[in-house]
Amino acid sequence: MKFYILYGGVLFNPDKSRITPGHGVNELIKIPVPMYVIDHPDGLAVVDTGLSYEHFPDWMKPDTRDEPECRIDRQLAKLGYDPERVKYVIMTHLHADHAGAMENLPKATFIVRREELKEAWFPKDRNPGGCGYIFDDYKNTRFFNYLELEDNVEYDVFGDGSVICMDTRGHSRGHQSVIVNLPNSGKLVIAADAASLKEQIDGRDAPGGHLWSTEAGMIAIDRLRTLREQGALVLLGHEPAQVGTLKFAPAFYD
Ligand SMILES: [Zn+2]
Repeated sequence: MKFYILYGGVLFNPDKSRITPGHGVNELIKIPVPMYVIDHPDGLAVVDTGLSYEHFPDWMKPDTRDEPECRIDRQLAKLGYDPERVKYVIMTHLHADHAGAMENLPKATFIVRREELKEAWFPKDRNPGGCGYIFDDYKNTRFFNYLELEDNVEYDVFGDGSVICMDTRGHSRGHQSVIVNLPNSGKLVIAADAASLKEQIDGRDAPGGHLWSTEAGMIAIDRLRTLREQGALVLLGHEPAQVGTLKFAPAFYD
């Protein structure tokens, strides 16, 4: 197995407290947007598809950069993988910095929580971006293949314990994280926005940025803390300080 971390863009957040409720009011934070590729003997899997500048409404465009070369299918091709051969795309959730290029992997099966799909398609706040979701990210994906997971289900993607989707709802209604067990590198956990920043997991702070449920988010944080205590490398959703400690593609974990 090979496990790659890809750079999928950057977000400029002029008010950190949007992510860390109560902390960092009006403090600018530049956060990396990662994506992940898992090359498994039984097929290729992608976790999240980054952000799409062209789908951002005009008022959100200053929050990011136009970096078309970062698109997941283009980066896969650069790594020598045919994007058409991606078997699974695991969506941690469908917020705008995670679902940007779903439409560019039309042959894959998307593994996503059923409740996340419902929330993304019919958010309570219909203002584009205001709810965290941008409809243009996935409006063309209605007839793609989906494997819709129910709440609480732990899903073993390849049936061998190497890639497990776990329910970490709270940040969003149907958020999930992904445990990756590698023969040499050990256990990695793609927390995504169940823990966007180190201070959230260290301080047991709610995973904000359009937080759906504080209570559920805290349960998710505690699950991630337990995995970390057991020795797993927890890949935080958007932690600038973690970037320099990780291997990015074309380097990989195995
Ligand atoms: Zn999010």
